[in-house]
Amino acid sequence: MEVRSCCSLTSTETEKTEGQVSRRNFLHGTGALTAAGLLAAGSTNIAHAASPPGCSVWQKPTDADFHEVTRGRDKPEVIDHILAVLENEVVPKTMRGVKAGNKLFGAAVLDKHDLSTVIAETNAETGNPLMHGEVTAIFAFYDLPKDKRPAPQDTLFIATHEPCPLCLSSITWGGFDNFFYLFTYEDSRDAYGIPHDIVMLDEIFRDPEGSYSEKNKFWSSWGIRDLIATLPADEQPPFTKRVEALRVTYAEMSDIYQKAKAAGKGADVPLK
Ligand SMILES: [Zn+2]
Repeated sequence: MEVRSCCSLTSTETEKTEGQVSRRNFLHGTGALTAAGLLAAGSTNIAHAASPPGCSVWQKPTDADFHEVTRGRDKPEVIDHILAVLENEVVPKTMRGVKAGNKLFGAAVLDKHDLSTVIAETNAETGNPLMHGEVTAIFAFYDLPKDKRPAPQDTLFIATHEPCPLCLSSITWGGFDNFFYLFTYEDSRDAYGIPHDIVMLDEIFRDPEGSYSEKNKFWSSWGIRDLIATLPADEQPPFTKRVEALRVTYAEMSDIYQKAKAAGKGADVPLK
């Protein structure tokens, strides 16, 4: 299990130069709010402010986590099923969505008990730029009557592409304890011309590597191709072939999207 500290910056690096203090240091630092008379002395907030900010370790999910999340299923069964859901349910919807001007990101929610599909959705940004595939799926999931849907922790969450910061948070707030994705941030940037995930993680979260803790107190996450790579060599080719076929299909959909964007016919969203 890979574990590393998130506290890689020194205090002098986190504090801005020339007397500028970061928001985190201001709130958690040397009592600036107290000095400014904004907090009453002796309140619980003072005790919190006196201690440094929390710093969880970075973790990767283990095979034990995989078996817990998938209710003891073998990797080949799960990989096969996820690829089938993408091929047969998400891709057809996404193709229709892309032809209507939406991006090519999709998502699905599966019941852990029998891997049946609860929801399969795709990006719907022509209606609202926040309607990423994952967010669209979560809205559709919670639109189901409560007695007609499993609890979120009883589902597997599938994303065609590694979830962006919005979707990482949405999956967390939605109560899902896992997600699986096919294509990476680097694929989104390099193969599909959508660089916003890594740029946001760098610009907003100061993480130029686009990293996040793949296992944390809320969920564990896996790249499907990473899972395939852990299988015995003779079991990998059929799955790799299907991934390559999906890559070709998504390249075709990307072409449709990018051509529409270039022609000024894409969705009217701030980040295209
Ligand atoms: Zn997203």
